[in-house]
Amino acid sequence: MFLDLDCTLCGLSEVRKRVVPPSGDLYSPVLFVGEAPGEKEDNSGAPFVGKAGKMLDRILREEGLARTSIMITNTVKCRPLANRRPKEEEVAACYPYLECELHDRELVVALGKTAAEGLLKTKLTLKDCANTTFSIIVNGQKIDLVPTYHPSACLFNLVAREGLRETIRMVKARFPDL
Ligand code: URA
Repeated sequence: MFLDLDCTLCGLSEVRKRVVPPSGDLYSPVLFVGEAPGEKEDNSGAPFVGKAGKMLDRILREEGLARTSIMITNTVKCRPLANRRPKEEEVAACYPYLECELHDRELVVALGKTAAEGLLKTKLTLKDCANTTFSIIVNGQKIDLVPTYHPSACLFNLVAREGLRETIRMVKARFPDL
């Protein structure tokens, strides 16, 4: 399902300023999935442009992975008020858009617990599964999925930062041309 910039599939539509579509290379084999837009993203209409985005940019740059060569999206495309975690019903309502974005990807990087749980459809602890490769089946297609730490956790937590760095190194090793 193509993203509707006037979407009203869930209650987030009543409080958002803008629907935030994916950015980067929309044909990339690699998709990074975050949680939900924050205030800066809601104002600008682009994902990961605030503090967490700057942290992601920094690690991508340091590991030589071009942000323009990957696709970046969110589990839900609209900002929950006060940056609360999106509710299960909001994640479910937005899933048809994410499903479309997953089409033909080879590797999905789930940034944080909300993205990892939404994609693996199970509860999990990041500490136990970060940088482990799982498989998901989307419309009959098998896609590798790696949960990792959310860039906002990396702002203050050096263990998380090293974990995300390891993920990005792994992506670069598998896709050296990106
Ligand atoms: N956090 C997210 O999960 N996504 C964004 O786009 C920005 C911050």
